[in-house]
Amino acid sequence: MRLVLLGPPGAGKGTQAKVLSGKLSLVHISTGDMFRQASKSGKELGRKLADYMNRGVLVPDEVVNQIVIERLSEADVKDTGFILDGYPRTKEQARVLDEALNDMGMHLDVVVYMKTSKKVILSRLTGRRICRQCGSIFHVQNIAPKVPGICDYCDGELYQRDDDKEDTVLKRLQVYQDQTKELIDYYTKNDVLKTVSGDLEVRQLYDVLYELFGSERLI
Ligand code: AMP
Repeated sequence: MRLVLLGPPGAGKGTQAKVLSGKLSLVHISTGDMFRQASKSGKELGRKLADYMNRGVLVPDEVVNQIVIERLSEADVKDTGFILDGYPRTKEQARVLDEALNDMGMHLDVVVYMKTSKKVILSRLTGRRICRQCGSIFHVQNIAPKVPGICDYCDGELYQRDDDKEDTVLKRLQVYQDQTKELIDYYTKNDVLKTVSGDLEVRQLYDVLYELFGSERLI
């Protein structure tokens, strides 16, 4: 199965993609995770990526497209299918993705739009904490760790992403709204879009998604 999770920052794409990719044995491809990883490399590209992310603006299409297409060309993707999380984010990225998949003899089965209210997004993102060591995601209220600041799974330190601070969150939301409407129109026209509520709790939304794919016989 080839799946895209689409939605504003804070919709829960990363959380759902992690669980679903494990359950359905799909490769999880998160552009945000790839960029955060690359930004630690100390290389020129990494520094540029960190700068875009810290300002809450999008990385240019050509850069993102190249990185994603390279990843999609790896053997595991073709064998097992994938969940794209955080990509595409613009109509141009969607167009390039369709073209690249077509060239590789693949196509998207479904694009899930996780429609989420601004209130929920703000609360989720500003309260989100991530483990430096294993990448597990917590929330100061909703998914509180047993010991504040410490990961339940590996005792790693929990930190707040720079771009989860309120000012940057508001900027990211604006960027999202500006770019993503036409992306939703694009996939609506292509008849692959399914809309679910990103306001649901993690477990409830997971059940909705699982039900959706099961009933579509896509797994
Ligand atoms: P995320 O973890 O998906 O919220 O992504 C974090 C940041 O990485 C975004 O605010 C952008 O700066 C950048 N980014 C991630 N995915 C994309 C994309 N598909 N296009 C452009 N920029 C992206």
